[in-house]
Amino acid sequence: MAELTPMMKQYFEIKNKCRDYIVFYRLGDFYEMFFEDALLASRELELTLTGRDCGQEERAPMCGVPYHAYETYVGRLVRKGYKVAICEQVEDPKAAKGIVKREIVRMITPGTVIDASMLDENRNNFLGCAFGDATAYGICFCDISTGEVYVTEIQGTANHQELFSEFGRFVPREVLLGGTCAQDTTLQEFIQKRLEGIFSILPEEDFDMEAASQAVCAQFHLGELETSGLADAPVALRALAGLLAYLNETQQSSLANLNTLNVYQQGQYMELDLTARRNLELCETMRGQEKRGSLLWVIDKTKTAMGSRLIRQWLEKPLLNPIHIKKRQEAVQVLAEDVVTRDALTQELRQVFDMERLIGRVVYGSASCRDLCALQSAMTHLPEIQKQTQGFTAPLLRELHQRLDVLADVSVLIESAIVPDPPVSVREGGFIRAGYSEEVDHLRDLASGGKGEIVAIEQRERERTGIKNLKIGYNRVFGYYLEVSKSNLNLVPDTYIRKQTLANCERYITEELKSLERTVLGAQERLTALEYELFCQLREQIAAQVHRIQRTAQSLANFDVLCALAELACENHYVCPEVDFSGRIDIRDGRHPVVEKMLEGSFFVPNDTSLNNKSDRVAIITGPNMAGKSTYMRQVALITILAQMGSFVPAASAHIGIADRVFTRVGASDDLASGQSTFMVEMSEVADILKHATKNSLLILDEIGRGTSTYDGMSIARAVVEFVADKKKLGARALFATHYHELTALEDLLEGVHNYNIAVKKRGDDITFLRKIVRGGADDSYGIEVAKLAGVPNAVIKRAKSILADLEQHAPKIEVRSIAEEDEPQISLTDLNQDSVVERLRAMQIDTMTPIEAMNALYELKRLV
Ligand code: ATP
Repeated sequence: MAELTPMMKQYFEIKNKCRDYIVFYRLGDFYEMFFEDALLASRELELTLTGRDCGQEERAPMCGVPYHAYETYVGRLVRKGYKVAICEQVEDPKAAKGIVKREIVRMITPGTVIDASMLDENRNNFLGCAFGDATAYGICFCDISTGEVYVTEIQGTANHQELFSEFGRFVPREVLLGGTCAQDTTLQEFIQKRLEGIFSILPEEDFDMEAASQAVCAQFHLGELETSGLADAPVALRALAGLLAYLNETQQSSLANLNTLNVYQQGQYMELDLTARRNLELCETMRGQEKRGSLLWVIDKTKTAMGSRLIRQWLEKPLLNPIHIKKRQEAVQVLAEDVVTRDALTQELRQVFDMERLIGRVVYGSASCRDLCALQSAMTHLPEIQKQTQGFTAPLLRELHQRLDVLADVSVLIESAIVPDPPVSVREGGFIRAGYSEEVDHLRDLASGGKGEIVAIEQRERERTGIKNLKIGYNRVFGYYLEVSKSNLNLVPDTYIRKQTLANCERYITEELKSLERTVLGAQERLTALEYELFCQLREQIAAQVHRIQRTAQSLANFDVLCALAELACENHYVCPEVDFSGRIDIRDGRHPVVEKMLEGSFFVPNDTSLNNKSDRVAIITGPNMAGKSTYMRQVALITILAQMGSFVPAASAHIGIADRVFTRVGASDDLASGQSTFMVEMSEVADILKHATKNSLLILDEIGRGTSTYDGMSIARAVVEFVADKKKLGARALFATHYHELTALEDLLEGVHNYNIAVKKRGDDITFLRKIVRGGADDSYGIEVAKLAGVPNAVIKRAKSILADLEQHAPKIEVRSIAEEDEPQISLTDLNQDSVVERLRAMQIDTMTPIEAMNALYELKRLV
């Protein structure tokens, strides 16, 4: 077999080091891709596929992109979930003997992007890492563009749910796996299909325990592990070490902006699994995955990119501790009342650029002059923000004010170094401000024709020779020359070398002029190099202040979010909810925050809610289609979430007893990607809820069982209500919407269960939706009336009515049985006769029955008789 060409040999040496990356191989003015990379990139980027001789019989498939536009192409590949390695020429091709030396200088993966053009400024871009052993899962998430690092440990490995919930919370674009997680195909499928992310498996040595503590202490400047909060979380520590190892390998630069470690415990935030987040449309709509129409769309009134990312985090991580919630509420209250200060503050914030990501790029050495100017421009607003926030007494606002650093020294430094509105490239000079460096000023003078130097020489020569009208000129042929008029030729010294004779003057050159010429010609090159060098020094000086800048950026982000929540409350008439551990949810005149915004021209009808974990645990809600059941139930969940994130809520008054988790089972969310049927998805979601909910959870269950036959569906629905309502089993607060009117009988059979319906007014064949929730079960489904409303042709409506009448006449009545448990006394409805009643009565062990069971049994017996 023929030998590969030397260049192809080099290519393969490099490619073999990073097999799962697309290698952008620098060749002159292009980045080229070869073989399978070329096939893939030409398809994904619509590039023309060509070939290149590689020494083999067949030419190597090849495609390329111009070097100056490569970022756009890399961005597109990374967005599609590919990883790219940039392979640069690392020596001057002119100086190279043989093949030019090349090395990988950067690796860009979906989770490690820092370029602004590849990021969404309103959301974090997380890289995740999960490591599992026999006892626990360690997980961490890091956004290297902002420097945030979050770590936690989940005890017990049987519990996938919490692991998935954490991933659902952060939605990492890329996940690194190690230990048991490396073999966990369910987790891998979840990452790919549900999160639409990618995963890679890291080698075991990246998670080495010994090396882990050293790496973590070094990265986060910790004297010892005890101070990190990770001393008792060895599995989390190993996950973090894996993440750092990967970052060190891919970034090949300082990770200095990752300096604050957020170690959090399970149970610090409300748990919301991916299904609940999606169903409740917290950050994006289910259909179309758009922000418009989501809760975030309503509440995100932030003015900065930093604030926009933070408000999303608050929404994704509602709190569980009423003290922390109260602290946020107090801050919102103050800002809501003090409109003047809030306006002044938001005016300033509006003009602040994304300091968090700018400092990230400074630290990674990819910031441009324009980035530094943007950073400086943000800093000019800090004194005013500091002034506006100094009078606040609310503890959170005070803390944030104290964290704010006006960074005057950094601002002055940048301003003195860089010209306003500098060029895009830092490689072509022209951006260092006059007066910042004497050498730059001097070179710039030389480069612009050495004007100063020429005036000096001219002056000196005039004095030396006494030729008053001597002047220095320039032409392309002789370069610089001295011009002496004919009348003064007698004064010309011997050192002048004559070059040209004109009608009324002579032109001369001197050694001094020649040397000036050489300096002038080399000056531009030296100036460009020096400007770049000074820029890099400046960038490092600013990078050294990363900690101060990040703290300030975080303080601004918090002010921004609190102002946004205050504005939200004022504009939409939200109230401050009382939040505690009472278990009560009492909402007066609650509204759905999103639906009320979407209703154009019509009025949103407010509704009350009263749930608690004693007498009012489960609300069974009936009512026709379109009446507003889903809206009502979601509204309760959204108000609870808003309250726990520290926001005010859309209601006349609200009391929210903390929910540890909110679960939803809403509508048909066909998960076609997972290859499951609608009913299968419905049932597995129900299974998850029943397994993981606690008595402090809030459950939103919409039409459980409707995906199967009436009898199966109703049986399942009823069994679920029984389980949820039963204090010995779950006893959680739940809203349960159903079309099975038969379930309303449970109000009389189960403690804590109450019926509600959404009122409608019927006149003839027409119905009007009143949207008001009232006590009691609905009297009818009004399915046909709704179908008529929807425009189903009259003939069909008429026929449907006659079929319905027929069915109602002949269908067997579905009876509702009492709670049946295998080991408890049962009453069968199949052998309905007096004897069996007597028999049942005899069999009952009254001593072991609970009062409720006794009541239930009594009801049933009465009905049988
Ligand atoms: P289905 O059983 O068919 O799913 P549903 O009872 O769950 O219907 P929703 O989807 O909640 O009904 O509501 C239907 C529409 O009614 C909503 O899109 C909204 O526009 C309107 N609506 C719901 N609640 C209210 C309200 N309280 N005030 C005003 N309009 C409302």
